[in-house]
Amino acid sequence: MATAAAPTATPPMDAAEEQALLDAIQKWVDREVRPVVMHHDHNDIWPAELVAQMTDMGLFGATIGQEYGGLGLSAVTYAKIVALIASHWMAITGIFNSHLIMALAVERFGTPAQKAKWLPKFASGEIRGGLALTEPNAGTDLQAIRMTAVRDGDHYVVNGTKTWISNGIEGSCFALLVKTDPKAEPRYKGMSLLIAPRGPGFTVGKKFAKLGYKGIDSAELIFDNYRVPVDNLIGGIEGQGFFQATGGLELGRINVAARGVGLAEGALRLATAYAQVRETMGKPIAEHQAIQLYLGEMVTRARAARLLTFDAAEAYDRGERCDMQAGMAKYFASEAAVENSQTAMRIFGGYSYSKEYEIERYYRDAMLMCIGEGTNEMQRMIIARQWLKQNPA
Ligand SMILES: Cc1cc2nc3c(=O)[nH]c(=O)nc-3n(C[C@H](O)[C@H](O)[C@H](O)COP(=O)(O)OP(=O)(O)OC[C@H]3O[C@@H](n4cnc5c(N)ncnc54)[C@H](O)[C@@H]3O)c2cc1C
Repeated sequence: MATAAAPTATPPMDAAEEQALLDAIQKWVDREVRPVVMHHDHNDIWPAELVAQMTDMGLFGATIGQEYGGLGLSAVTYAKIVALIASHWMAITGIFNSHLIMALAVERFGTPAQKAKWLPKFASGEIRGGLALTEPNAGTDLQAIRMTAVRDGDHYVVNGTKTWISNGIEGSCFALLVKTDPKAEPRYKGMSLLIAPRGPGFTVGKKFAKLGYKGIDSAELIFDNYRVPVDNLIGGIEGQGFFQATGGLELGRINVAARGVGLAEGALRLATAYAQVRETMGKPIAEHQAIQLYLGEMVTRARAARLLTFDAAEAYDRGERCDMQAGMAKYFASEAAVENSQTAMRIFGGYSYSKEYEIERYYRDAMLMCIGEGTNEMQRMIIARQWLKQNPA
């Protein structure tokens, strides 16, 4: 099992620097994101102008080390940024997060030459991409992937299909999980991770029409005799791909937890405001006990989700193994996002169903948090296994 060590030793920001960064991002959200979110979400428009602004702010290098031109942010600062943006539009956090998980695989497991070649371009946003693991027949059971990479001189020839890949259309490079030895037993020993830039033989299949998570593109990627240099094998040794792909999931889970925190807090913010202006029986609904019970539950869930998430992020920043904390944070915060968005829908009554209000987006976006970066069924099993290991009979 890969350890949780953070890839760089960049010293964390002090509190004043961090607050200044968060204030700048809040201003950007208020000025640029909030005016366009409903239009982009309802029409499933990829937000080109916001992506350009996120590039200028350095978000595509947020967690990449400063020696490669990134911001080298700690997991804590990064999670605060993600929660803040997600509380207004969760989907755009996926555009830079999927990219950063690809970058993390290179930064943590790549050779010095691979880091020098790819990380500066990832950090600047010149090359953007994501993580391509899932296949039509293999999501949770990643070891069941069928995509093959067969050595041919100084290249691999890749064949197969990836599905549900975030940034699949707009991204130009992916960390691609393949089988370099499809017959290996155990199966993970035959898996490798390649840096796969777009090129001949690498095409987009279909763009998925989705319930939520609009704006960001989710696509099928087809590889048909796609040739990639052997130099693009992350770490330079075959058979490491399963651990390289899942080694970044701790930060990925902290990120999904932070998105859950954002959704849970955003739904709370909208419901709190609405409950104080909507009147029935001659008073704001916030004064009815039934609505107070809802708000009491929501604020408690949002707070608990935040505390669990930052508990995991702090452990990650200390370089500790934190798969259990990250799993608990991801599980709890994503369920909090679902429950708070549903409860907010109840508080909004009939207007929750109207596209003129924002709360329906939270309801559509929240469920994804229970699925991505390891389903919540798997999270609970991972938590339980760790717990049992720590507490033998
Ligand atoms: C919008 C969106 C974006 C995505 N982005 C990406 C991306 O960028 N890159 C990428 O690689 N993938 C991506 N995915 C895919 C995602 O990671 C998978 O959907 C997820 O891992 C679940 O896999 P599955 O859909 O095949 O479900 P399955 O694995 O078929 O699971 C179905 C159900 O069975 C349960 N289950 C499965 N196995 C077990 C078990 N052993 N024990 C108990 N329960 C089990 C699951 O928890 C789930 O409830 C994305 C998906 C979506 C919807």
